[in-house]
Amino acid sequence: MVRLTFYGGINEIGGNKILLEEDGRRLFLDFGFPYKRHKLFYEEYLKPRSGAGLLDPLAMGLLPPLEGLYRDDLETPGLWQQFRPTSLYRELDQIDGVLLSHAHLDHSGYISFLRDDIPIYATAVTAFIAKAVQDSGKSDFDQQVCYFSPTVRGCPAGWRQEACLTGNTARQQRQFRIADREPEALSTNAIQFWAWGFWEKTGRQKELVSSPLGTHTDCSFNLRCFPVDHSIPGACAWAIETGSGWIVYSGDLRLHGKRAGLTERFIDEAAGLRPKALVLEGTGVLRETNIAEHEVYENGLKAIAGSNGLVIADFSPRDIDRLLTFLQIARDTGRKLAILPKDAYLLKTMRLLEPEIPDIAREDSFAIYQDTIASKSPKLWLRNICREYDSKIVLADDVSSAQEQFILCFSFFDLNELPSIRPEPGSLYVYSSSEPHDEEQEIDFRRLHKWLEHFGLRGFGLPVENNGQWQVPDGEQGLHASGHACGPDLLEIARRIKPEILIPVHSQSPGFYIDHLSRSGIDVILPAVGETIEV
Ligand SMILES: [Zn+2]
Repeated sequence: MVRLTFYGGINEIGGNKILLEEDGRRLFLDFGFPYKRHKLFYEEYLKPRSGAGLLDPLAMGLLPPLEGLYRDDLETPGLWQQFRPTSLYRELDQIDGVLLSHAHLDHSGYISFLRDDIPIYATAVTAFIAKAVQDSGKSDFDQQVCYFSPTVRGCPAGWRQEACLTGNTARQQRQFRIADREPEALSTNAIQFWAWGFWEKTGRQKELVSSPLGTHTDCSFNLRCFPVDHSIPGACAWAIETGSGWIVYSGDLRLHGKRAGLTERFIDEAAGLRPKALVLEGTGVLRETNIAEHEVYENGLKAIAGSNGLVIADFSPRDIDRLLTFLQIARDTGRKLAILPKDAYLLKTMRLLEPEIPDIAREDSFAIYQDTIASKSPKLWLRNICREYDSKIVLADDVSSAQEQFILCFSFFDLNELPSIRPEPGSLYVYSSSEPHDEEQEIDFRRLHKWLEHFGLRGFGLPVENNGQWQVPDGEQGLHASGHACGPDLLEIARRIKPEILIPVHSQSPGFYIDHLSRSGIDVILPAVGETIEV
C-alpha cells in the first residue's frame, strides 16, 4: 500500500509538499514556499522571526508539524511539546529524499527548513538555478534552498531569553543528486560553480569543502525523471515505482512553449508506465487557450519597433525563453538589452550546462545595468560579474543620454532607478508578465501605474482596473505566454497518460477535473490538507 499525504498545494497555486510512503520508505514531492498562506499573515514588514526558528512557521500552519524532518539548529526549547497534541503531528524517523520538480520557490523554498542530510533530487539545471538565485539574492532565512548557515542558540547581550541566532557559522551545503546527467560529465567550470562559496582557509591556502553533486541512482525507490517545458529551464516530472504501480508527479508544465517536445515525450513515456496514479497540476484549468512565445515576440516587436525614447520591459528574467525573446526584439530594433547583474549571473550559470545559451561577452546586443547607488561592500558574486563583463556595464547616465538605444529589463522593484535615468516623456513600459493574483499585487499595480504617470511613461500590455477586474487593454494582449498548460491541454495530458487515479494539486479549481473526466475511466480524487490517500 502506498500512502500519499498532502501538506501543501491544495486549493492553492504552489506550496506543494506531498509525502509518499511505502514500507517505511518516504519521499517528498517538492517542499515549496506556501505564498498564499504566507500572505494571509505576513508582509514585507511583518515576517516570521528568524530567531524563533521553526516556531513561527509551525504555529502559523506554514510548515506541517512533522518531528524529525527539520534542522535541529532551528528547534527552540519545548517546541515539540507544543505541537504533539495537534492533529497533523507525526514523528518521521526517516526521509529518503525530496524530488524537486523545478527551481521556483513555491516548489523549493521550504527545503531551507529540512534536515541537511535529506538528499534533494533534481535536474542539474534546477540545482544550478537554485544556487545562482541564492548566491545573488537576498535569501531570507526561510528561502535558503542550496545552503544555509546553521544558527547557534544563545542569549544576546542584555537579553534574558535564548534565541536561534544567525552567527558566523560556516555555510552548510545541501546534498543535491542530479537525475538527468552524470555528475562526472560536468565541466570543470560547472563543478567550480557548484563549489563556489564553500572553502576553508588553511594557512594562506583556501581549500574547497563543497559536497559534490551525487546521482539519483542511490535512492531507495526506482525513479524516473522526465524533463518538461515550464517557464523556468530545468523543470521535470517524476515517476516513482511502488508495489501499487507507478506514481507520476507532473510538477508544473505546458504544451505550448518552445520546448513542448519535452512535455510530449513525458506524456508518451508516462503513459507507457501504465501508472496507478497521476498527481497533476491544474494552475490554468479555467483558461481556454494559450499564447505562444512566438506571439509574444511578434506582439513585443510591434509595440517596440518605431517607439521613441527608452523602452522598459517587465518580465521574469528566470524565464530564460522570455529573456531570449526580448534579446531577439532588441537585435531586430537595433537596441541593446540591458539586464541586471543577477540576470547576467543566472545566464552565465545556465551556459555552464546549456552551451546554446548566448555568451554575454560575445553578444553585441547585451548590456548590464549597474545600480546607481552601491552598498558599501558589494557582494563577491556581484563584483566578479561587474569585473568579468566590465565592457558591458552601463550606468544610469549612459542610458539617460541614449535612451532610444536600450531595452531595460526592469521589474516593479527596480523602478527606483528612474530618478537617476530620467526617461523621456513618451517612453514605453512593456508589461510581459501575469496579471495580479491577490490584493498585495493589486496594490503594487496601482503603484506601478502611478510611477508611469509620474514619469510620463506609456504602458503597453499593462493590466488596468475596470470594476474591480484587472484586464489588459484591447489591442495590447498577447505579451505573456503562461508557464502552465490551459484547461484543454491539461485534459489531454490526463487522457493520454490515463492513470487509474488522478489527484489534482496546485490549482484553485481542482473540481474541473471531476467535471470533465467523469466518463474517461479515470478516477479523480480531490485531496485535502493533511489527509492521506491510499493507492
Ligand atoms: Zn508552481
